[in-house]
Amino acid sequence: MPAPRIGVDLGGTKTEVAVLGTGRTELLRRRVPTPAGDYAGTVQTIADLVREAEGVAGAAASIGVGTPGSLSRRSGLTINANSTVLIGKPLKDDVERAVGRPVRMANDANCFALSEATDGAAAGARLVFGAILGTGVGGGIAVDGHVLDGANGIAGEWGHNPLPWPRPEELAAPQCYCGKRACIETFLSGPALARERSVLGEAAVEIYEDRLARALATVINVLDPDAIVLGGGVSNLDRLYQNVPRLLARYVFSDAVQTAILRAAHGDSSGVRGAAMLWAEGEYDG
Ligand SMILES: [Zn+2]
Repeated sequence: MPAPRIGVDLGGTKTEVAVLGTGRTELLRRRVPTPAGDYAGTVQTIADLVREAEGVAGAAASIGVGTPGSLSRRSGLTINANSTVLIGKPLKDDVERAVGRPVRMANDANCFALSEATDGAAAGARLVFGAILGTGVGGGIAVDGHVLDGANGIAGEWGHNPLPWPRPEELAAPQCYCGKRACIETFLSGPALARERSVLGEAAVEIYEDRLARALATVINVLDPDAIVLGGGVSNLDRLYQNVPRLLARYVFSDAVQTAILRAAHGDSSGVRGAAMLWAEGEYDG
């Protein structure tokens, strides 16, 4: 029987663990608060959840962890995380030491893309772009059921590219925390939409859809995915799935857009499931 797979999704406010058994059946799921601003406590929380999961899975289980940010190819330290306590920390090394075995670690958007591409909204699609429209804007790429990391570990990170085909008023956008101006994230995050809605009402959603179509069109022009799966709080807006595909035709460099725009099937669970799937079933042999 293949070893069970433990997945941990480290978020800014909560940390979740799940155990996948044979055929991706869920044997356990638990969620605890992430200790705010406490790096050592965060590593300990992950180790405690893994230990609890092992009680269900057995000690031969594989362990995958989804995190905010990426691991720097230069230093092995966490970069780009919005949980700033992780930045510059050797999280992978520290978690491996705490749990006493090799751990696979990936950006949470990559885990999301992997889960949705494996048995979620985009099951069976070869090339999947997972777009998170939440507190921040993240992205991940799954190819043939595997996460695409990229040479710099940032494949799919579209949130801090500039918003394409900007209108004059968009160029005057406030500076992003990353130091640049008019980043996609400053327009497409949940908080950004909420702010515009408070001023413009529902007209803000129409503007949002056009911006989302522009931002996704450049992803399609470069990657040409079979499917784009939307996750995060904003992805719950039903109208996106009617309006954005129609708007894409204006911006994509093709006479027809075949890329499916899909709502995530696993919702918030995709992070923890995708983390477990960083090891293929039967791949880990203890
Ligand atoms: Zn930025």
